[in-house]
Amino acid sequence: MRISILSVHVRNSPAPCWKDLRWLGIRWSEGPDCDGPFGPYSQSERRASYLEAWRRLRKGGFLYPCVCTRKDLAQAASAPNDADDEPVYPGKCRTRTDKDKDADDCMEPAGVNWRFRVPDGEVAEFSDLNLGRQRYVAGKDQGKDFGDFLVWRRDDVPAYQLAVVVDDEAMKITEVVRGADLLKSTARQLLLIRALGYDAPNYFHCELVRDSAECDWQSGTMRSAFGICGRAGRRQKRCCRWFSSESSCCARSS
Ligand SMILES: [Zn+2]
Repeated sequence: MRISILSVHVRNSPAPCWKDLRWLGIRWSEGPDCDGPFGPYSQSERRASYLEAWRRLRKGGFLYPCVCTRKDLAQAASAPNDADDEPVYPGKCRTRTDKDKDADDCMEPAGVNWRFRVPDGEVAEFSDLNLGRQRYVAGKDQGKDFGDFLVWRRDDVPAYQLAVVVDDEAMKITEVVRGADLLKSTARQLLLIRALGYDAPNYFHCELVRDSAECDWQSGTMRSAFGICGRAGRRQKRCCRWFSSESSCCARSS
């Protein structure tokens, strides 16, 4: 059980979600509530390892500082393809030279956004254990699948892409199972994994559960739905079957 909340300022306790997962019959042998050999298990406590990876990437010349404002990005970019995806970065700061990258006294990321410079035209391909061959083209033009992506935010919070790659390596994760909305993130993460010299895990992306309006059920919706079922005294297996029947992917595998 790993808690993927990166900001140290978020005070909401993840404990209610543990309760719902236990109600569903899901158990874990390592986690923030029971410790284990690869702790700490909350991302907000793992900053030192993200910082170390950021420094390595920066020294290796993979990153550049981006000073674009939200307004610059909104004006330059077209809408992203997927609801939660970031638009292709138009490349305004791409050619900035990072002249301090070898200075030992300049190794804190706060103050600007840091982007990973994707090789223009590079094809990131992988074989998904559920959805088969996936292929994405990286680059700086709007027609590309993804562009230079954030690895560290100016408010001094590491980006999801970096944190998850660093944690998966440190925790010796061999198989990642997650929603298909993160397929393109996998392509980004594979570039990070290569730059950091890590081994890539296997990936299994599930189709998303959607409601009647075709909106994705985010983890919060799912959690409260399970919570309501639990409090109403519903049986777990019946609820799982019902949720599965709402999602073709789960129905196939149940
Ligand atoms: Zn920029």
